[in-house]
Parts: sequence; structure tokens; C-alpha cells
Amino acid sequence: MTVAQPDLHHDRQFPDIQAASRGLYIDGGWVSSQSGKTIEVIDPSTEAILAAVPDATIEDAAAAVESAARAAVSWRETAPRKRSEILRRCFELMIERAEMLATLISMENGKALRDARGEVAYAAEFFRWNAEEAVRITGEYGVAPSGSNRIIVDYQPIGICLLITPWNFPAAMATRKIAPALAAGCPVILKPASETPLTAYALASIYEEAGVPPGVVNVLTTSNPGPVTAAILADPRVRKLSFTGSTGVGRTLLAEAAKHVISCSMELGGNAPFIVFDDADLEAALDGAMIAKMRNAGEACTAANRIYVQSGIHDAFAEGLTRRMAALNVGAGTDALTECGPMITRKAVEKIGRLVDDAKTRGAKVLCGGELSKDPGFFYPPTVLSDVPADADMAHEEIFGPVAPISRFQSEEEAIELANNTEYGLAAYVYTRDLARGLRVSSKIEAGMIALNRGLVSDPAAPFGGVKQSGLGREGGQHHGIAEFMEAKYIATSF
Ligand code: NAP
Repeated sequence: MTVAQPDLHHDRQFPDIQAASRGLYIDGGWVSSQSGKTIEVIDPSTEAILAAVPDATIEDAAAAVESAARAAVSWRETAPRKRSEILRRCFELMIERAEMLATLISMENGKALRDARGEVAYAAEFFRWNAEEAVRITGEYGVAPSGSNRIIVDYQPIGICLLITPWNFPAAMATRKIAPALAAGCPVILKPASETPLTAYALASIYEEAGVPPGVVNVLTTSNPGPVTAAILADPRVRKLSFTGSTGVGRTLLAEAAKHVISCSMELGGNAPFIVFDDADLEAALDGAMIAKMRNAGEACTAANRIYVQSGIHDAFAEGLTRRMAALNVGAGTDALTECGPMITRKAVEKIGRLVDDAKTRGAKVLCGGELSKDPGFFYPPTVLSDVPADADMAHEEIFGPVAPISRFQSEEEAIELANNTEYGLAAYVYTRDLARGLRVSSKIEAGMIALNRGLVSDPAAPFGGVKQSGLGREGGQHHGIAEFMEAKYIATSF
């Protein structure tokens, strides 16, 4: 493993950490928490404290709801063209500040700068895409089958939205929700992950500069997410919960939202299979596997979690993947040379270590990596395992790290059965030169998204989401993302 050294001084857009940690963002202003307490933000590359952000209380949350309620009427009545132009400005400002935002993401999340740059471009695109969608929200008009009346369907903003996001894409998971909510005419309260709040606050400054009116976007951080978000959901003016995170927390939030009959969109955990058939283009499959596995050092819900390779191509694929993984440059996220940054926390490293040890105990072979690093920072080395049995814990749990477990299969039926042997159904990857087989297998795999001969599936223009325990609803895509933030109102009339 090569350890790259941090080198921030060349960066002309160094983030203003103090500005990003100056307060909760409520009603267009920066306010202290009523608790007077703070949450420390740790740099995963060095374990140093980067900043401290306010720790919001239930009273702070109530102030955020009041602020959103005050903004709700004028925002829903703002002309779609005006909303669209503000969203477009958010996109432009994010692109102008891309290097600053990418550096900030790398600092608090640890991901390699190249991944952070990719995230900023992806995150900004949700504003551009939804700026275009904001002016294309249309209704329906028809004649009832009986002929006795007309059916008019109007789409209206659902109301105040609570958005809860994870640490693995601090910018994109927030903009994937904020942009369509604003396009639909809804004010929002964002609760970002405690590990990566700085990006969310830095983005709030950008929204403000772009012309988002006070109260339309509110951001608060808390170390007490259960009670604070439960208090927000209990306010009858809050009508939507959009959550991205683990399936376990998603279930808790669904139960909380059920008490108040609140509409929920849930982007939850994944356990993506990556299937390589004998007839696949080997180099393309290896390129795709490196992206599907190593984007964000494996800390992605869409990350290839189980790699199934057909017997005829198995050894060449395992050898090629091992060569590429072993050559990766590991180091601080902010170093331009880094290809694999640290994990988010020590706990995450320990979980990966437990999963690898379990697989080894059950007979998996270590082709590279597999040993904990002694360097400071939350590092785990790029690792390839072969002969990973179906009962290994990592075949059923998200690894969320740079570990590629390879298993061999013989037939198409077996590959489909293995792929579907999970409670999750977010993303899946299939490599074959036979298009008919690719489409057949894609239709039989239980997942919301299939990448066929591609290592990357995410696209703001496509509906992102999962089936089974991976979630409810879709984000992005033509109409899908905005529809989650609207209610259909049916008007019956005759003349
Ligand atoms: P997490 O532990 O579920 O946390 C996600 C968010 O929920 C954080 O903001 C967290 O706040 C908050 N939270 C935790 N407990 C809560 C509670 N009782 N009530 C209300 N909010 C609560 O997930 P994570 O570890 O940050 O993220 C990794 C997970 O996200 C993985 O499972 C990954 O697959 C999934 N993910 C899914 C998608 C998708 O699109 N399907 C995308 C990205 C990630 P604190 O930070 O303050 O605890």
C-alpha cells in the first residue's frame, strides 16, 4: 500500500471552514443552537478535529418548521420560471465553486479528490436538471368514461419536507432532494449526517447567494437525530419525509412517519451483485468493476458488494482485478494523487475487518490486502478475496469499503439465483457481449437499477431507487423525482 501525503496548499479555492460551521441555517440566517453544544467534525484522513457545528435541539427544529411554514405560501406561488432560474443559478454557482466544494468534501468525508470532484458535478447537475423540470410540471385533462363529467388533475406542492441524508455523498444526497423539492414549490428542512455537515452548510450559502428566499431551505445538525426529527414529523404542517441512509434507520423513520400519515421516500441500503459472463469483454468488465467497487473507496450504496464471475473467465478476471486493486494509491482524500481515501470512521474500518475475517474463516482466499493499516486515519487497504462462499456475512451485509469478494458461477440460472439471494434490491451490474442475455438477465434481477456493460449507473436524468429492502420511491429521472414532492388534486366538473 502506498501512502500519499496531504498537499492542500496548491488549492486556490480552499474552503472557509469557519463560515461553514458558523451556525444552524434557519430562516435565511446563521443561528446558534439553543443547547449551546456542538458536534465535532473529524478529518478521517488524519483523525484531527476539523470544526465543530451546532447541536440542534427540539426547539431549534421547531424554529426551522416555523421558518419553512412562513416561506411556504410565497414559494409555492413563485412563478415556475422564477424558481427555475434560481435553481439554474444554484447549478452555476456550484460549478464556479467546484474545487472549493470538492476539497471540503474530501476533508470531512475522506474521499479522494477525484471522487469528490465527480460528486460536485453530479450534485450540481440535480439543480440544472430540476431547473429544466420546474417549468414542465403539467396536469391532466380528460372525459370521464361515463361521459358525464370532465376530469382535471392538478399537481400541487406537497408542503414542508424533512430531508435526512447520509455522509457518503454529502453534496449529492442533499441536492438530489433539495432541487426537486424546490422545483415542485416546497420548502425544506435538511438534516445532514453528523460526520459531514460542512458541505451542507457551505451549500446553504450558495443557495442564499443564488436567490433562494429565507426559510425555503433550512439546515440543522443534531447529535440527537431520533427525537429531533420525530418532533419535526409531529408538526402537522410537515407533509413529506425523504430519507437516504441505512435500511435500519429507514424502518425506524417509516414507523415514526406512519404515526402522522406522512408521505415517505426511502433510499436505503444496497448489496449489488456484479455479474461477469464468459463472453464479456474482459478489459471492459475490469474497468467497470473498478468503478462499481472503488468509487468513493467502496462507500456507495450502489457499490459492487458481490462479484460473481463465470468459470471460463474467472481466473483472468481475478488476476486482472487483483493487479488493479493492489496498484491503487491510498492516502489522504485531499491529495491529488490519492485513488483510495480513508473510511468515514474507525467503526467502519472495524466492520470491514470483521467481514473480511469472517470470509477468511469460511474459506475465502486473500489475493491482495486484507490486513488493517497502522497508519493514522481510518484506512483499510484495497482488498480482493476469491472463493467467497454464499454463507459469508459479506454476501448479505453491505461492506461499504474497498473489498472486492469474488465467487465463481457456472450457469445463467445460477447467476440470477445468487444475485437475487438478498433482501436488498438497489443496483446490479451485468457484463456480457450477448445483448439478448443481458436484457434477459436484467429483467430477472430484482433491483431498481441495472448497469449493463457499465460500471456506473447514477444519472440525474434517470430514476434512481431500489426495490425490496432498498427503498420506496425514486429520485431524479423525468418527472419521477419531482413527483415525490407533489400531490395530485382531482377536480371533477361538467358543463
Ligand atoms: P444512517 O446511519 O442510516 O444515517 C443516515 C442519516 O440518518 C444521518 O443523517 C443520520 O444522522 C440519520 N439518523 C440516524 N439515526 C436516526 C434516527 N433514529 N432518526 C432520524 N435520523 C437518524 O446511514 P449512514 O451510515 O449515514 O449512510 C450509509 C447508508 O446509507 C448505507 O446503508 C447506504 O447504502 C445508504 N445509502 C443509500 C443510498 C441510496 O440512494 N439508496 C445512497 C447513499 C447511501 P447522524 O449522522 O446524526 O447519525
